[in-house]
Amino acid sequence: MARSPKVAESAVDVVIVGSGAAGGMAAYTLTKAGVRCLILEAGRDYDPQAEVNMFAPESDAPLRGTGTPDKPFGYFDATVDGGWQVEGEPYTMTEGSDFRWWRPRMLGGRTNHWGRHVPRFGAYDFKPFSRDGLGVDWPIGYDDVAPFYDRVERMIGVNGGPIGLENHPDSPAGCLMPPPKPRVPEMLITAAAESLGIPVRAAHTAVLTRDMPDKVAPRSACFNATPCTRGCTIGAMFQTTTSLLPMAKATGKLRVVTDAMVSRVVMGARGRAAGVEYVDRKTGQRHQVTARAVVLAAGTGETTRLLLNSGEQGRGLANSSGELGRNLTDSTGASFSAFIPGLAGRPRYNEDGIGGQHIYIPFWLYEQQKRGELDFARGYHFEIGGRFGLPSSAALPRVWGKDLKQAVRNASGATIGLTLRGEMIPNKDTFCEIDPTVKDRFGIPVLRFAFRWSKHEVNQVAHGRRAAHSVFKRLNGTILDPDLPPEQIMTAGGEIIHELGTARMGADPKSSVVDSYGQTWDVDNVVLMDGATFASGPHKNPTLTILALALRASERLATRLSSGALA
Ligand SMILES: Cc1cc2nc3c(=O)[nH]c(=O)nc-3n(C[C@H](O)[C@H](O)[C@H](O)COP(=O)(O)OP(=O)(O)OC[C@H]3O[C@@H](n4cnc5c(N)ncnc54)[C@H](O)[C@@H]3O)c2cc1C
Ligand code: SF4
Repeated sequence: MARSPKVAESAVDVVIVGSGAAGGMAAYTLTKAGVRCLILEAGRDYDPQAEVNMFAPESDAPLRGTGTPDKPFGYFDATVDGGWQVEGEPYTMTEGSDFRWWRPRMLGGRTNHWGRHVPRFGAYDFKPFSRDGLGVDWPIGYDDVAPFYDRVERMIGVNGGPIGLENHPDSPAGCLMPPPKPRVPEMLITAAAESLGIPVRAAHTAVLTRDMPDKVAPRSACFNATPCTRGCTIGAMFQTTTSLLPMAKATGKLRVVTDAMVSRVVMGARGRAAGVEYVDRKTGQRHQVTARAVVLAAGTGETTRLLLNSGEQGRGLANSSGELGRNLTDSTGASFSAFIPGLAGRPRYNEDGIGGQHIYIPFWLYEQQKRGELDFARGYHFEIGGRFGLPSSAALPRVWGKDLKQAVRNASGATIGLTLRGEMIPNKDTFCEIDPTVKDRFGIPVLRFAFRWSKHEVNQVAHGRRAAHSVFKRLNGTILDPDLPPEQIMTAGGEIIHELGTARMGADPKSSVVDSYGQTWDVDNVVLMDGATFASGPHKNPTLTILALALRASERLATRLSSGALA
């Protein structure tokens, strides 16, 4: 998608900041409704079809493809720009906080290399306060979002099966593509876990298991053989760059300017936003664009930063509640692994399958929790790993030469992993704010993060470790995890890349930043469409819900524009 410098002067109805899951859905939905849109994307132009090398072996890459500060997830990873650190664009932390902030800087944002696990939130997830008195309820419930989940699943292509468990809603017929069969290690885990009363189900994954024909952006079924983190030239996994963005562009209503770092929302008359200001990352020049409405879809942290850097100095825009920047959550994360003798020395065959897990372990203890038998609130799930490949050194004996080669062959495919993702409850010590002194290379004040896990998260991870180890023991596995306190095995804040909640939605303008359509209470033509609006961050990965809420918010915005409400 070529950069078009003149677009800044052309009239548009809506300017959309960001082109990831949220921005892509906004552009698609609004342009289909006849709305003229301009996407401003801070990252560079990117076309997976032209740039992704799906087949090269890691041995063709420098350092055999291993991660480096430039390419933290490996040489071939789809992140062509951005990562844990972005040159000239720092962020800071309060003393004693450990927070990592993953920032993409490319067209399509994080959809180019995300994990694609897309569970639906359930009824409890939208009303957590009503269940346990912690945090706040969302102003909407599962039934409000369900029709949008149905449409998003069909639109982006999700495979999976029924779950049939409390707080894990099933998709109606026709929403999901068939799931792939479980791999051998996954079948073993299923048998062991279910014998312990722990359920295992087909994962819901945004990867096509059937072709999805389309005149503009045809997508093909996965051929089960290449690492998805590189991106997918055949469009089998959902990325906005191979689906929503080209489809939106084909309407003739969308223009895209890349390398456009939006610095603030510019206010106009009658308390409304007039548009935004951005810096051309290549030339450093500042530009302003005007529009009838501004959609912020820059990702939770950047959307919050933009609002904090706009409006009143020291308070920000749309912050009459004082909640902007507060209520930051990330998922908890911890990984457990074991060497399973029964899987050792297997004959080699292809069990690649679609990228990532075919099955997973959903949270199963809601009843016990309700009876007060657990020492933590909310839930967690396990994502499952176990494939042929280089075994971890912990699974190998201390031998050398031929013996080492033999040991590697024997252990390949015999290590299984259970990766925990759990809910964090917002706490008053975890937030982001504008750093009073530090600016990025464009002169834009940066974010400063404060972060702290509470006892709920620590106890939850300790419980998860006991559950994972019980599955490993049932398989006669040798546990490979270091024996450390739960605080020391938990990932740092932000490291699971599910940051949410810093401009939360609510029914009351006094305690929330936006309404359930992402519209800020204070400025009625500024609409937020990313994870910043989440009133809580359930253990279930957030992107399906980001997409569903962005679809819902975009349709509402299109209606308001056509009715003249934003004239
Ligand atoms: C390795 C990895 C694995 C993941 N796995 C999963 C998973 O399995 N399931 C799941 O649900 N989620 C997963 N996620 C999280 C998921 O990717 C995000 O929830 C989702 O992509 C967020 O979408 P978004 O549109 O809000 O933000 P982004 O995808 O971050 O897009 C925001 C865009 O805005 C641009 N931008 C930022 N600031 C500005 C600015 N000032 N001006 C202009 N443009 C700007 C950025 O460059 C970016 O392109 C994963 C993420 C990563 C990195
Ligand atoms: S495994 Fe499938 S979805 Fe992943 S990159 Fe390869 S073809 Fe695409």
